[in-house]
Amino acid sequence: MTDLPAHASVVVIGGGIMGCSTLYHLAEMGAGDAILLERDKLASGTTWHSAAQVRALRHSRNLTRMIRYSIDLYSRLERETGQSTGWIGRGSLSIATTPDRLAHIRRQEALAHAFGVEAASISPGEAKARWPLMNADDVLGAVWSPEDGRVGPSDVSAVLVRAARARGARLFEDVRVTGILTENGRVRGVETSAGAVICDAVAVCAGLWSREVAAMAGARAPLLACEHFYLLTGPVEGLTGNMPTLSDHDGRLYIRDDSGGLLVGCFEPMGKPIPPGALGENFAFGLLPEDWDHFGPMMANALHRLPVLETAGVRMLLNGPESFTPDGMFMLGETAETRGLFLGCGMNSVGVASAGGAGMNLAHCILRGHTAYDLSEADAMRFAPVFDSVEHLMARAAEVLGAHYEIAYPGRQFATARDLRRVALDTEHRAAGAHMGQFYGWERPLWFGKTAEPVLRFDRPDWFEAVGAEVMAAHQRAAVFDLSSFGKIEIEGPGAEAFLLHVCASNMARAPGAVIYTALLNERGTYESDLTAQRLAADRYRLYTGAAAIARDLAWLRRHAEGFDIRLRDVTEDHAVLGLMGPDSARIAGVLGGPALNALGYFRHGIADLAGRRVRAARLSYVGEAGWELTCRAADASAIYAALMEAGAAPAGLFAQASMRIEKGFAAMGHELDSDIGPVEAGLERMCSRKNGFVGSDALDECRRTRCRSLATIVLDDPGSQPLGHEPVLFNGRIAGRTTSAAFGYRIGRPLALAHVAGAPDGAAVEVDIAATRHAGRLRFAPAFDPEGRRMRGG
Ligand SMILES: Cc1cc2nc3c(=O)[nH]c(=O)nc-3n(C[C@H](O)[C@H](O)[C@H](O)COP(=O)(O)OP(=O)(O)OC[C@H]3O[C@@H](n4cnc5c(N)ncnc54)[C@H](O)[C@@H]3O)c2cc1C
Repeated sequence: MTDLPAHASVVVIGGGIMGCSTLYHLAEMGAGDAILLERDKLASGTTWHSAAQVRALRHSRNLTRMIRYSIDLYSRLERETGQSTGWIGRGSLSIATTPDRLAHIRRQEALAHAFGVEAASISPGEAKARWPLMNADDVLGAVWSPEDGRVGPSDVSAVLVRAARARGARLFEDVRVTGILTENGRVRGVETSAGAVICDAVAVCAGLWSREVAAMAGARAPLLACEHFYLLTGPVEGLTGNMPTLSDHDGRLYIRDDSGGLLVGCFEPMGKPIPPGALGENFAFGLLPEDWDHFGPMMANALHRLPVLETAGVRMLLNGPESFTPDGMFMLGETAETRGLFLGCGMNSVGVASAGGAGMNLAHCILRGHTAYDLSEADAMRFAPVFDSVEHLMARAAEVLGAHYEIAYPGRQFATARDLRRVALDTEHRAAGAHMGQFYGWERPLWFGKTAEPVLRFDRPDWFEAVGAEVMAAHQRAAVFDLSSFGKIEIEGPGAEAFLLHVCASNMARAPGAVIYTALLNERGTYESDLTAQRLAADRYRLYTGAAAIARDLAWLRRHAEGFDIRLRDVTEDHAVLGLMGPDSARIAGVLGGPALNALGYFRHGIADLAGRRVRAARLSYVGEAGWELTCRAADASAIYAALMEAGAAPAGLFAQASMRIEKGFAAMGHELDSDIGPVEAGLERMCSRKNGFVGSDALDECRRTRCRSLATIVLDDPGSQPLGHEPVLFNGRIAGRTTSAAFGYRIGRPLALAHVAGAPDGAAVEVDIAATRHAGRLRFAPAFDPEGRRMRGG
């Protein structure tokens, strides 16, 4: 018999490191009646057999911040509880054996500096001195990260629970959650093998079983387990004491010492996915069979790097299951489907490193309604429902495992689970030689060119000329950008205006015919989303948001809709949207029978017939060239597109659009805008209403008094520089900010970036650190290219 309580504020499901960290932080933040339910024993899922390396550096500031929090927590808890977490802080060493890998680790080193993490380039000789057993003959360079280390994963879990208990929280082992109770789309409690518990919130930290657990509440958690291998040897001569972790990512290996022997783990090119249910309900402290055939190529790499393996006795080839998500990032936060149901799962083989900070953020999210800092890249709502299919997950999870050590080239795309969602013009795009990229399941043209697949690289990309031609088409003549994957939400009802005045930061009370660029702010006055709205009638608006933002925005709107007489509808798939942009657009509209469009003022929309099909044209531009975003029935898109092409427009893709957006200085959600940034910092305060009463208005008022703009454009001097975003920006020789998006600006003939920079005045000479080389540039609080004053020909 267990003494399971009848009620708990929060129920955490799963006693792996993620659940334990969440419980600890819930208790620390005041939810002392939170409970953790583990169907077997603590750490019995994946956690117990983890290699448990903790490497601080991630590709974004906040993920890095999160793991640094884990490092601090794991050593702080030892002091607090007097119980060991097994933390060994011996640093990590990343080696490069190819020029591109060297560029990759140097970019990471620069990133580390931007995020305040210690990292230094060292020579192959110095690397060899730090890891004498390594064959360093082919090593070109290395980066040394002294703050990294590793822990005892079961120890950390136990210590977290001990510290949580000291704050009132409770753990129940051998209690299986068998169902999740919901009412009106909200969590009410859980059913377990030991009875029911009524609760306000549930945290799903059930590791690779989380997909099935979330489904108990009607929610989606698209993840799937793969087999993950590491080799353990007997004692090895020459291994004395604890060594740094050695990362040979060209060889797809991680290496460390383990009990006097070696631990050699790998991320082979294509993992072995495990079908749901294959492990059985009672899989605890379990492992999978060794597979030497599969590990063979990795063993060859390991023998090359560590010749001592020839003679070291193999103890075992450990094969344990670990879960992977469709994009390689974990899922954290409330689900779109069920209120009060939170995900903390899909850890993609960095769960031990992440859990400290991820558990803190999950607890924050449950108790305070948002993560401690922006973690939208891990948002639980970011996957299109179509990804939650066993077939797609079996294909993608295996590839994601293999991509773990891939070089982060610009333009990299996954090859599996593609063609899940096609826009209405998919056939036309492919016929025109589109190279596709996947966004929220949609296939979108990145650029057009009847060439073979590009070779990915850090220097000038294979698509450089093709994208340049598309930009010039939009700049000098007319181009069509397919914007159909925009999320589209209709709001209808007598309360529509009042509702939007409540949730949006701009004046939404404009007359029908208005197009309004606006923001959804949270109570902290920072961005939840930015979108454009078209007022279609007194009681009807249509919102256009980012492709991947649809579930999140809809959930946000629904959660603020109480008390308003409105109806919200996702109409994304009903309509196609074509951006007709460039000086020749007006002539084309005239030729196709829509001359009236030319009378439309900026930020106005109206109806026209183009090529005999009805369109709603909105006069705005995301690329800094005059034109319209044309919304039509998806079924009419092909006819309209054919007519536009026939009349002289050229197709243009996302890379051209991104380059032009950056030249025009337009901020994008997920790049320049996120929930750490408000309109004042983004230079968009003027788009916001001065009237109070909308969500976030008080905080925005405060920001108007206390903050200043940080978003700037940096144009680099050297036309050959290749900024990619996420680079440190230096002012007066000191890091003062970071780039957020970057591109080559074809209209200005120079590379450029948008960046958040503190303390540098307009016109300041700055430097951008690209792969540990500083590139000079000039900072401006104005667009690099502004076609102000240009008029459309024939308009
Ligand atoms: C071989 C290997 C090496 C690794 N090396 C590293 C590394 O070096 N660094 C790193 O950071 N990460 C590493 N990882 C990944 C890391 O170990 C995992 O990401 C992490 O342990 C996952 O923790 P978790 O709490 O999410 O899941 P788990 O540890 O699997 O915990 C989930 C728990 O939920 C319980 N549960 C499931 N269903 C229910 C239910 N219905 N009711 C109650 N309880 C339930 C399970 O019993 C389980 O205990 C490695 C993984 C593997 C396999």
